[in-house]
Amino acid sequence: MDYCTENCTENGVLYVVATPIGNLCDISYRAVEILKQVDLIVVEDSRRSAKLLQHYNIKAKTYTLHDHNERENSTKLVKKLRFGASIAIISDAGTPLVSDPGYVLVNEAIHQQLKVVPIPGCCALIAALAVAGLPTDRFCFEGFLPAKSIARLNRLQQLVSEPRTMVFYEAPHRVLDTLRDMSVTFSEERPAVIARELTKTFETLRRDSLSTLAEWVSQDQNQQKGEIVLLVHGAPAGLHSDADLDRLLAILMQEMPLKKAANLASKITGVKKNQLYKKGLLLKLVQP
Ligand code: SAM
Repeated sequence: MDYCTENCTENGVLYVVATPIGNLCDISYRAVEILKQVDLIVVEDSRRSAKLLQHYNIKAKTYTLHDHNERENSTKLVKKLRFGASIAIISDAGTPLVSDPGYVLVNEAIHQQLKVVPIPGCCALIAALAVAGLPTDRFCFEGFLPAKSIARLNRLQQLVSEPRTMVFYEAPHRVLDTLRDMSVTFSEERPAVIARELTKTFETLRRDSLSTLAEWVSQDQNQQKGEIVLLVHGAPAGLHSDADLDRLLAILMQEMPLKKAANLASKITGVKKNQLYKKGLLLKLVQP
C-alpha cells in the first residue's frame, strides 16, 4: 500500500494489535488481515515477531520500537501517520502497552488527533484470571514488582489490605523470592495461583496457599522456568484491616520493644501474637 509523502490530507490509522502469548493459533482473523494490509508493523523484537509474521505469511515492513528509543521513534511514526501511512503496533506477546512498549506512540497519536483502533486478543493477565478460580468481579493489575527485595516488600506492604484479586507478572528467577515475600506480607494462608506457560506445551496452573506454593516452587526447579502470572486473593474483610494493624503496631513500637508491642496489639485486636510480631519485623524493615 502506498502512502503520500507530502500535501496529504488523509491521515493514516494506528492499529494496536494483540498477538499470541504462546500458541500461534491464538490470534484473530481480523488481526491477521490488518497485519497483512498495513504499510508498516511496529515491533518490539524483530526476531521474535518474524516467527509470527512468517507463520501467517505477513510481508509488511517492520520497524523496531524499544522502551529506550520509544520517544524519538514515536515522533517519526506519528509523522508517517500524518502522511497517510497505516501502521500496526504489536509486541513480542499479547497486548501491546500491557507491560510492553507502545504507550508513548499511542499517546502521541491521540494528542495529534489521529485515529487509534484496538484489535483485541490475548493478554496473559486476562487468560490467567479467567482460569484462576479467584474473584473476577473486581481485580487489579500490578504488573511487575520491583526486582530488589526491600522495594518489593515495600510495594507488597502497600497492598496488604487490597480487597480485590491482585494480578502480577513475574520473572521465573524471582518467583520463589516473591512468593516468600508475599507469604510473609499477606499471610501464609492467603489463597493464590501460579499460572505458568499459558497456551504452551508446559502450561501449569496451581491453586494453593502462598506458603504451600512457595514450598512447591522451591522443591521443583521446573516451576522456576518460563513465563509466569501470579494471582493473589484480595484481603479478607476483617474486624481490623491490615492497614489498621500496621498503624497500631507502628504507634506501639514507638513506645516499647517489638515483642511487647505485638503482645499488647494481640490483646487489643485478638490477632495472633506471632503474626503481629512478623508484621512488626516487616514494618521495621520497610519503614525508614
Ligand atoms: N503484553 C503482554 C500481555 O498482554 O500479557 C505481557 C508482556 S510482559 C513483558 C511479559 C510477562 O507476561 C511475562 O513475564 C509473564 O509474566 C506474562 N506472560 C506472557 N506470556 C505468558 C504465558 N504464556 N504464560 C504466563 N505468563 C505469561
